[in-house]
Amino acid sequence: MSSKAVEATDVPAVQSHLGGCRWEGVPVMPYKEDGTHFKSISRQILYPGGHDLPVELRAFQMDADGYSTLERHNHAHLVMIVQGQGHVMVGGKIKEIGMLDVVHVPPMTWHQFKADKGEPMTFACVVNVERDRPQRPTETDLDELCQDPAVKEYIRY
Ligand code: MN
Repeated sequence: MSSKAVEATDVPAVQSHLGGCRWEGVPVMPYKEDGTHFKSISRQILYPGGHDLPVELRAFQMDADGYSTLERHNHAHLVMIVQGQGHVMVGGKIKEIGMLDVVHVPPMTWHQFKADKGEPMTFACVVNVERDRPQRPTETDLDELCQDPAVKEYIRY
């Protein structure tokens, strides 16, 4: 686990949306520092954790062909799609998702989001400030996931 202290933040009362899933004073960052196991996705931190809320609120924006890393970890995610549509695979189940749908990713559950319906997709994601690093699938994990032909077709890694 990382040990990032949660302290009071300087987050203003309102962070105005500027259009196009950009927020006043919020820098657009790479999804992850490096790697080729994801595509066309950016990250913005809307709340870094603080007060009695030890959680980050992040916004992830995907281009029309984007996808997140196929991964699992001990921490959970709570996601709300805020724009666009696509699919998510959670624990071997693939679901269509669109605006205002809510996705719960429990601990140690394989998951991957894809903006695969011809339009960008943006989602907000709540995650604990103190969390473990994501694990990527081993060859054995991939063999297990690919037992289901739909999952085999879906996943990118
Ligand atoms: Mn994750």
